[in-house]
Amino acid sequence: MGKLQEKVCLVTGGSRGIGAGIVKCFVEEGATVYFTYRSSATKANELMESLAALPGKVTSFASDASDFREAEDAVTKVVEEAGRLDVLVNNAGITDDTLILRMSEEQWDRVIHANLKSVFNLTKHSLRPMLKNRSGSIINISSVVGVFGNAGQANYAASKAGILGFTKSIAKEVGSRSIRCNAIVPGYIETEMTESLDEAVKESFLQNIPLKRMGSSDEVAQMAAFLASDNASYVTGQVLSVCGGINM
Ligand code: NAP
Repeated sequence: MGKLQEKVCLVTGGSRGIGAGIVKCFVEEGATVYFTYRSSATKANELMESLAALPGKVTSFASDASDFREAEDAVTKVVEEAGRLDVLVNNAGITDDTLILRMSEEQWDRVIHANLKSVFNLTKHSLRPMLKNRSGSIINISSVVGVFGNAGQANYAASKAGILGFTKSIAKEVGSRSIRCNAIVPGYIETEMTESLDEAVKESFLQNIPLKRMGSSDEVAQMAAFLASDNASYVTGQVLSVCGGINM
């Protein structure tokens, strides 16, 4: 039996990259998984088709995580269809990099909304069904950039550092109801987000990684599956790195 058997999970931004890795891993572990995306319907459908033969169930739909009402509708849909919500993975995220002197207000707001406000939106709405069941696991995907900072990513770093404070606060607010909240700090993971980095930047990242390679979406997903499962029943308010030991 998979370790997520009978768990109903909602993963934001599951159509590609780390989110898709989490969706696949959760379905393999027997979960009923709902995942969202913003616009990549074709990729979402391809992912669902590729998982059809696995033990769990998977459904996807478009929902902008940065929009408070769309986030509410997403949680309502899951609870109406599946009857409960056990696990929320706040994975959706974007970058829009430039040095602070060139960064527009729009670039700042867009990244903060997509990466941080989205976490508030989905968490707030998910807590209602979780509080009702007196059980739940919330997993927030932060980044090493939120821990170390990175030139040219002040908006992204601020959003990912904000997630860490949010995670620890929510863990304190809802721990007494057996709801856990943890953050994963991925390092340099091979996805479309990192594909566009130039070779010099990639090389400098690799020099600072003791394991001397990029990570995979599946390696992040394995940590998410642990935190989602009852094996992590005494783990909350924690920041767990999956980063090959990177020191930026
Ligand atoms: P990715 O390949 O660019 O995929 C991003 C996913 O998020 C896509 O499914 C995208 O949907 C979705 N998304 C973006 N904005 C959204 C919104 N407003 N509402 C709903 N869905 C939205 O990114 P990734 O590399 O897998 O990164 C996933 C998460 O891990 C992000 O939070 C990222 O910051 C974090 N992370 C990544 C790395 C890395 O090295 N890759 C390292 C540390 C942390 P569409 O395709 O429809 O746009």
